[in-house]
Amino acid sequence: MAQEETTVQPKDAETTAVQSPSASRYSKHIILTTYPGQSGIDPVPLEWGAPDAKSRGPVVVSRSGAFLKRRNAMGAHGGSYSIYNALAIAAGDLDPEFRPNFVNTEPTFDFPWQKSWADKTKIVSMDPYGHDVVKYFGDKISAGWDIRPTMAITRANMKLAEIAEAVRDGHLDVDGSIVVDSTGEVRVTKVAVEPVWYLPGVAERFGVDEPTLRRTLFEHTGGSYPELITRPDLKIFLPPIGGLTVYIFGPPERVADENVKLALRIHDECNGSDVFQSDICTCRPYLAFGIREAIREAQNGGSGVVIYFRKEGRALGEVTKYLVYNARKRGGDTADKYFTRTENIAGVRDMRFQALMPDILHWLGIKKIDRMLSMSNMKHDAIVESGIKIIERIPIPEDMIPDDSRVEIDAKINAGYFTTGKQYTMEELAQVRGRGWEKWEDITH
Ligand SMILES: [Zn+2]
Repeated sequence: MAQEETTVQPKDAETTAVQSPSASRYSKHIILTTYPGQSGIDPVPLEWGAPDAKSRGPVVVSRSGAFLKRRNAMGAHGGSYSIYNALAIAAGDLDPEFRPNFVNTEPTFDFPWQKSWADKTKIVSMDPYGHDVVKYFGDKISAGWDIRPTMAITRANMKLAEIAEAVRDGHLDVDGSIVVDSTGEVRVTKVAVEPVWYLPGVAERFGVDEPTLRRTLFEHTGGSYPELITRPDLKIFLPPIGGLTVYIFGPPERVADENVKLALRIHDECNGSDVFQSDICTCRPYLAFGIREAIREAQNGGSGVVIYFRKEGRALGEVTKYLVYNARKRGGDTADKYFTRTENIAGVRDMRFQALMPDILHWLGIKKIDRMLSMSNMKHDAIVESGIKIIERIPIPEDMIPDDSRVEIDAKINAGYFTTGKQYTMEELAQVRGRGWEKWEDITH
């Protein structure tokens, strides 16, 4: 591996564009990639896992001007939105040298420093100092450095139909502070996180060596990030993927308090159910149940947390997901074949890989979860293996499972998902059937 990476000579690193961009904001000379020994290469020192922000150093990913040779990270800010940023510059709407004005953007709650922030094994997929770069690196930002937050902390009010219903039916109290009024309005603290990967740590979580991880990322992004190969000295990569959002109910200082109870749900995105309430899966009902229980725990003097990961359709995406729906509905939608249908199309049943998920729990300072609102073994095992205790696991209540989603939930239970109810045999699963398309034929023809 390593030999192959170093056979490319530095002279190949710089080339002249065949077609010059029409916009004059770029020179004709394009630096496609950089090499550690190249003249002027001097990355800003960054030591992942250092005891505090100043000794750790800022994440600098910008390629603009003088930063090209001083970068200490690959990729771009914004996760999957980095491409829109490029489009805005290409369209002439955004100056490539633009610097954000951070006045009044500081966090609404100052999360206390945790030991995990300085532990390069506990946090490998987010920048633990990414929420307050102005506080930590304000001097450098004032001096013109392009250092940007990769996290943001705010507060908001939210309203969910299921929560309004629970308040109306007397299942949830109005306390004036968390549930604000009888319409079911709820106060929440939110933390948005974009991915920042420390590659040696990510490789270790997946049980592969770092060159293999780098080579695979390089090849399967169409060679988009050549420095994964040419700059083994750069250890940080901002991947073009979605991040996560933490929703905290009740006072945020209680989240890390071991003396109060914590109810927590880890939820992976399912747009069709979460937003549009498609009834083929249990995602939205379980999310709503998780939010309700999180609120309840906070009202009881504890803390409630829901973490929403942008990993649509088990991180396979909606196109694959809909292809699977079609294969299921046309092939006889029974629970015994549920996972096979996904494997036939995606090659695997799940790409969420929960190995990086516990990072955010460690960042928040969570040591134990009293009530884990999830049935997933992958999530459970990842959390427990990372050193956080789970005291009780709470499955989705039977009466919240939509009819057409029995195929999904029963297949998952058979595959080992946690349940306090019935575990089905394969023979029984063959009898669990989803809704067909019969009535649809009249509409489509
Ligand atoms: Zn779903």
